Amino acid sequence: MPAPHPRIRPVPAFRDNYLWLIIDATGTRAAVVDPGDANAIERALAAASLSLDAILLTHHHADHTGGVAALAAHWGCPVHGPRADPIDGIDHPLDDGDRLELPALGIDFEVIAVPGHTLGHIAYFGSRLGEEDPRGVLFCGDTLFAAGCGRLFEGTPAQMHRSLGRLAALPPDTLVYCAHEYTLSNLSFASAAEPGSGALAARIAEARTLRERDIPTVPSAIGIERETNPFLRTTSPAVIERLAERGIPAGADTVERFAALRAWKDEF
Ligand code: ZN
Ligand code: FE
Repeated sequence: MPAPHPRIRPVPAFRDNYLWLIIDATGTRAAVVDPGDANAIERALAAASLSLDAILLTHHHADHTGGVAALAAHWGCPVHGPRADPIDGIDHPLDDGDRLELPALGIDFEVIAVPGHTLGHIAYFGSRLGEEDPRGVLFCGDTLFAAGCGRLFEGTPAQMHRSLGRLAALPPDTLVYCAHEYTLSNLSFASAAEPGSGALAARIAEARTLRERDIPTVPSAIGIERETNPFLRTTSPAVIERLAERGIPAGADTVERFAALRAWKDEF
């Protein structure tokens, strides 16, 4: 697991959500990504003497948006989110290719539309946050998970496959901040889908150690996902072979293979 960015902190909420705080270089102001729970965020802000400057949303589900009204009312801060998902309270709707500049926080994001989990889902890619860390950061909500991907509640397999492909094309050292701690269960599916992978075995050992100590397995990195996430590995011979055993012909295209993997995972 890569070292997390020094200015990004998880706020755990509910059963397995991570709400993310992005903190400015002086340690006084913050933005929050997907605040499902206002109280959890207020406690984290108070504990670190931070004020809230902005709210960023990836998609409309309540575990990502439940705290928006209370936080926006308290802090009077702008709410940025996807134009195409139904969310109350967004005052800065965003589309694919938009730039989101938050100069007070020293942050600049590119918006990437990633339909699939929901139709309007967006991700935020920052090529770097400030001067102190050259790695890019990605906030991808419930689209790309560590070793997995979100369920297809609204979109088609073709949409999700394309969305994941766009994220997988980001630089390999990009830190991946997803919204749930699903990593261990995702990894057990990954080893069923791609048995015999040494990279996967190493990742499982590492993730188990972290979870035994109650440490998040997130962030991941794009390069690690490319090596071990079965949903990004529809062209791996081992994955193709496993799918063939489940009735997906070797000549199937990558979208069919992706759809079969996602359906298999749904019942795994
Ligand atoms: Zn969701
Ligand atoms: Fe969620």
